[in-house]
Amino acid sequence: MSTYRAPRGTRDLLPAERPVWRHVADVARGLSEAYGYREIETPLFELTEVFERGVGAVTDIVEKELFRIQPRTDDAETWALRPEGTAGIVRAYIQHGMQTWPQPVKLTLLGPMFRYDRPQAGRYREFWQWDVEAIGDAGPAVDAEIVELGLRFYREAGLEDVEVRLNSIGDPGCRPAYVAELTAFYRRHEDALPPLERQRLESNPLRLLDSKDPALVHLNDDAPRITDRLCEACSEHFAEVMAHLDALGVEHRVEPSLVRGLDYYTRTTFEYYLRGREGHQQALGGGGRYDGLVELLGGKPTPGIGFALGLDRVVLALKETGAEVPTETPPIAVVVGADPGATAERLRVATDLRAEGIRVRADLAVRRLGRQLEAAAKEGARFAIILGDELADGHVQLRDLDAATQKVLAIDDLPALLLRKSQDG
Ligand code: AMP
Repeated sequence: MSTYRAPRGTRDLLPAERPVWRHVADVARGLSEAYGYREIETPLFELTEVFERGVGAVTDIVEKELFRIQPRTDDAETWALRPEGTAGIVRAYIQHGMQTWPQPVKLTLLGPMFRYDRPQAGRYREFWQWDVEAIGDAGPAVDAEIVELGLRFYREAGLEDVEVRLNSIGDPGCRPAYVAELTAFYRRHEDALPPLERQRLESNPLRLLDSKDPALVHLNDDAPRITDRLCEACSEHFAEVMAHLDALGVEHRVEPSLVRGLDYYTRTTFEYYLRGREGHQQALGGGGRYDGLVELLGGKPTPGIGFALGLDRVVLALKETGAEVPTETPPIAVVVGADPGATAERLRVATDLRAEGIRVRADLAVRRLGRQLEAAAKEGARFAIILGDELADGHVQLRDLDAATQKVLAIDDLPALLLRKSQDG
């Protein structure tokens, strides 16, 4: 029988990798708290319609990448695994009447997302995002606050050189005219368009702007720019976002082709990149304003803005840039014994030490002391607590595994000493 493997596009995050993940999540949680975002959990799956409406039926995410759940019976309802967090959070905002809470309602979620995408480096079928959403604030100040929050996250996580690219994609007032102009532009160059882009031109012409196809990269240089076509209100909003970023000393680069893949965005859109990296595929994270989304999902018209930062890519980038990241810490001590069979004794001493808040392992294998000591050294423990004849009058041997020195110690003195040594690092 062949052995089983994790499904394509998913992976096991093994113990050695967890400290860096935990570090990244801790930074996210700490900043969520500092900036006043409250935790929410939503189900890993929702009614498919929540995503079809909330993300947009003609986006890659819904068209190609949605993990649809096969119903067991002929249930009228169909579900899909969440491909992103915003639609579910906004669904929850409406369902729980959060419109009546003090606005804005600031929510955060950190968890796995699922997209049936072609797996490649930095692109998985199960991946993790940190989401923040500020619902009920039309900006522009909160837009700048969120953009800055993302940059702070990358810095605190250990990525020094992350830049933000910023755009405004207008609103339902000014965007349709721009989209019509853009469509006409591409129609004039239809012969140069690859088949996929020709299709997109019919369904979602904005998508052509961030196309990766080399044929378009060139053409897009001459495409009309949304930033030149914004209505007065959108233009003023955009200018104010930038003024607030300037006031915070946050550098940003205006990128008129940054339209994001999702239908629901209005006005501010932004993405984070390691400086010098190009192409949407490389984005570390992104976000934007979605002033129409609450209404689209059945709530009262309510503005909102948020971001989703991909944690897998942060972990990859930390590795690539050689940033210093936390590693697993071994226990400070291992309890070993001269009598291989005296496992109850070793277990009892270790249990008492753990009750004092000390991280120790008991060697519970029935094996010679030499082997127990070897295992402790290999694990990277600082000390071995050796149980022998002295235990009868309350003493143990404490062996410093680095220095290869050993002394007799009253067992009652162990907790204080080990606590002190643990804190010394
Ligand atoms: P998006 O909303 O598609 O821009 O996603 C926001 C961020 O999530 C991206 O910038 C990536 O860092 C991350 N992300 C999106 N899709 C994937 C994926 N399939 N695998 C890993 N990370 C992803």
